[in-house]
Amino acid sequence: MNFYDAHNHLQDDRFAGRQAELLADCEKAGVRRMVVNGACERDWPQVLALARQSRIVRPSFGYHPWYLHKRTPDWLKHLETFLDAVPGAVGEIGLDRWKPDLPYADQEEVFLAQLNLAAARNLPASIHCLQTWGRLLELLRDQPRPACGFVLHSFGGPVEMVQGLARLGAYFSFPGYFLHERKQRQRETFRHVPPDRLLIETDAPDQLLPADKNLHPLAGTGGKELNHPANLPAVYAGLAEFLGDKMEPLVARVEENFQRVFGN
Ligand SMILES: [Zn+2]
Repeated sequence: MNFYDAHNHLQDDRFAGRQAELLADCEKAGVRRMVVNGACERDWPQVLALARQSRIVRPSFGYHPWYLHKRTPDWLKHLETFLDAVPGAVGEIGLDRWKPDLPYADQEEVFLAQLNLAAARNLPASIHCLQTWGRLLELLRDQPRPACGFVLHSFGGPVEMVQGLARLGAYFSFPGYFLHERKQRQRETFRHVPPDRLLIETDAPDQLLPADKNLHPLAGTGGKELNHPANLPAVYAGLAEFLGDKMEPLVARVEENFQRVFGN
């Protein structure tokens, strides 16, 4: 079976240079593609290098709202250079009103500049959104969007918004973290996602699965546990069980969806 990781951060420093080993584990586990998301300028060369090193890596370049304070005056030009080198995807971009003390002021400007770039180049955008769903919907409705669609990664928005977002071209990506018992509301929302808009992700090294589903325990520096991207099939299995689906049709459906939005 072929598994597709719609969103991870393989370049993350917490993996401490073990990327080649992790990629080998992923290939062995049946991961056919993974979208590796850079979150700030420092990440972009590393994401590009991973894409050149492994054919399973689909590179994605973007500025995440958490790191906007690090951006250089030339960040947008810089981003275009990477998209020229490998036209993969734009992300991780987004809006965040949840993280304490995170300024909101520049977030929309930076988000829209990147969304516009994705639309102009027709590249899928990978979007992070926490506690600002109404505003995101407004902006997506009023702005150019990539014709190929966009991904709402770790979608935790209100179930009532699923149809409206889907009409604008949204795909909804399910992380293993939602398999935790306490994430019932977020899990239930995925019963209402249109079947042709469902994606699955690890968000590795973050969003660890419940311990009994974590098939690839991985300790980071300092002993803190990390989510191994080879846990992807376990996320599929957890979601299949929750939805009462068989594994094969779910795998086939997500493959079709992934290839529609990210290409083959
Ligand atoms: Zn992410």
